[in-house]
Amino acid sequence: MFGRAPKKSNNTRYYEILGVSKTASQDDLKKAYRKAAIKNHPDKGGDPEKFKELAQAYEVLSDPEKREIYDQYGEDALKEGMGGGGGGHDPFDIFQSFFGGSAFGGGGSSRGRRQRRGEDVIHPLKVSLEELYNGTSKKLSLSRNVLCSKCKGKGSKSGASMTCAGCQGSGMKVSIRHLGPSMIQQMQHPCNECKGTGETITDKDRCPQCKGEKVVQEKKVLEVVVEKGMQNGQKITFPGEADEAPDTVTGDIVFVLQQKEHPKFKRKGDDLFVEHTLSLTEALCGFQFVLTHLDNRQLLIKSNPGEVVKPDQFKAINDEGMPMYQRPFMKGKLYIHFTVDFPESLTPDQCKALETVLPPRTSVQLTDMELDECEETTLHNVNIEEEMRRKQAQQAQEAYDEDEDMHGGAQRVQCAQQ
Ligand SMILES: [Zn+2]
Ligand SMILES: [Zn+2]
Repeated sequence: MFGRAPKKSNNTRYYEILGVSKTASQDDLKKAYRKAAIKNHPDKGGDPEKFKELAQAYEVLSDPEKREIYDQYGEDALKEGMGGGGGGHDPFDIFQSFFGGSAFGGGGSSRGRRQRRGEDVIHPLKVSLEELYNGTSKKLSLSRNVLCSKCKGKGSKSGASMTCAGCQGSGMKVSIRHLGPSMIQQMQHPCNECKGTGETITDKDRCPQCKGEKVVQEKKVLEVVVEKGMQNGQKITFPGEADEAPDTVTGDIVFVLQQKEHPKFKRKGDDLFVEHTLSLTEALCGFQFVLTHLDNRQLLIKSNPGEVVKPDQFKAINDEGMPMYQRPFMKGKLYIHFTVDFPESLTPDQCKALETVLPPRTSVQLTDMELDECEETTLHNVNIEEEMRRKQAQQAQEAYDEDEDMHGGAQRVQCAQQ
């Protein structure tokens, strides 16, 4: 099988999440969401990710305009903003606007408490070009916070907690700084006594395993699979593997690939570039050399008989570039950039020998009289990049000076008018 599978505009997943058919009425959707959202609410021990998905699916399908876009173009279209910012809402807001905050009766615990989303943890991951060519997997050991298993993240044996006296349960403290005799600055910062949670636990009731911290450290080994053809900057995500915290939807661990410089190969997208220097003899009379590829294969690279390679010339080998991501059987090109090493000088004998084999000189023969009319010149060596840089700096300085002059002039005119 070749080529990319036709891009599925995934427009059935939301229906599947809610467990309804594509022709479901608004009433069917409401019923399905009500049932599933109560069952999966994190306060009732449900899976936060599933809860989030349900809210997302319901938010889109319950809005006729968004539903139409979704049916036609799928999820991506909504993410790209065609529906006016789809899917970005807090699942708890959606839940509360549906149930009015009393889904579990009795004005319960979930009222007014919003579940935050924990931060994503981003790690750069250095990979060599060989690893991106061949694919690899890396086992990485990380330590993360997980909810304490003994107290289930409550921090206390009884599951109860008291309102923090330091902040009266708000989790924030206000401090006032005097900046001067009539100036004060009010600053809000998380309460240090309860670490911003608004709750404290009595010493007696404190969970022995987490010492009331609600979370414990856990070592975790993640296996990061670097697939063939992945790009510099590409992200590999482990959803919900970041630090856990009470009342928080756990963020993701994200590895961002950083491709290390390679001494021989440069990469541009799916193509590879190598530099190769030929002697003048090789450039004129033919060459062959062995190039060790990124998977250690030995490539024999040679010129065609009678072919001349010019300085700065590129040549390409098909299918010896980088494998394409998720289509590793397809590869880019390998480009070779040739530099030709000319000899510094030749002896008169060498020149004579060369003239017998090289094409004759094309320069016109001048008569003595014509030569007499000409002025003699001397060629000398320059470093052209250096020269150009110096000229540019000079021009910039002149432009600056001119600007200064004009400015000064304008001021003089103003003075004269006064
Ligand atoms: Zn506090
Ligand atoms: Zn505990």
